[in-house]
Amino acid sequence: MDILEAVLKNTLNMESFSDLPPRLSDEESERMKADAFNDTEGNLNEDDGYSCSICKNRGIIMKVKQTRSGNWTNVACDCECMKIRHTIRMMQRSGLKNIIRDYTFSKFIATEDWQITLKEAAKTYSLEKKGWFFIGGQSGAGKTHLCTAICREFLLEGMPVKYMLWRDEAPKIKAAVNDAALYSAWMDPLKKVKVLYIDDLFKTGRGSEDSQKPTAADVNIAFEILNFRYNNPDLLTIISSECTVNDIINIDEAIGGRIFERAKAFSLKPDRSKNFRLKGVTEL
Ligand SMILES: [Zn+2]
Repeated sequence: MDILEAVLKNTLNMESFSDLPPRLSDEESERMKADAFNDTEGNLNEDDGYSCSICKNRGIIMKVKQTRSGNWTNVACDCECMKIRHTIRMMQRSGLKNIIRDYTFSKFIATEDWQITLKEAAKTYSLEKKGWFFIGGQSGAGKTHLCTAICREFLLEGMPVKYMLWRDEAPKIKAAVNDAALYSAWMDPLKKVKVLYIDDLFKTGRGSEDSQKPTAADVNIAFEILNFRYNNPDLLTIISSECTVNDIINIDEAIGGRIFERAKAFSLKPDRSKNFRLKGVTEL
């Protein structure tokens, strides 16, 4: 071996240097672990139809943080999409199946003039994002479909949306009326969330006609939520109900008046031809 080459090799220790793996700092090593985790695909979208490019549908993002003692570590954080998924799941639990796939405006078939008017108004509301939107009256006319389609648009834009199915939520709130902390825990999110959808306002879904009438406690809860939102005009409120605005005014003038003032409101007159659930049924 050339003597010069041998000296150089010895001095720079080239062979052993090139054999050494690059030494990673603790921070780099934690970051590699986090990147590997954050690159894997999750499958939450299979349940709720909502696809998130930030967490790749895992719902969790791994973040590298330094502890007080100076060590580096990985911390699992909820992705922002988890709030959206929570709302979608609440809606799905209430019987609205695949919201993202099925509750689109294009799947609301509008052939009659009243359907076209409703659909256009709902689409415009979802774009303008101003005030309240109310559809009341005839059951089975697609009120829930259109209100859900509005919420779907907002959810896809990442807006905070809460879903309140009246017959499920109102009894829980009424039961908590003597427990101030629990009562606030139920009520505050409904009052303050950016978008609230109240589905089937004042419908209890049980009992005879008479027992389905809203009680004073129902009226108080509705007033407290809607009055707060009325006083905070940036909050968007969507309401569907079998009651028309006039019916609600008859139940409680203050609530009806606020809906009338804030909402783009539609009341469907009772008409069995508007009931989709009866379509295809031959009446004898
Ligand atoms: Zn996400």
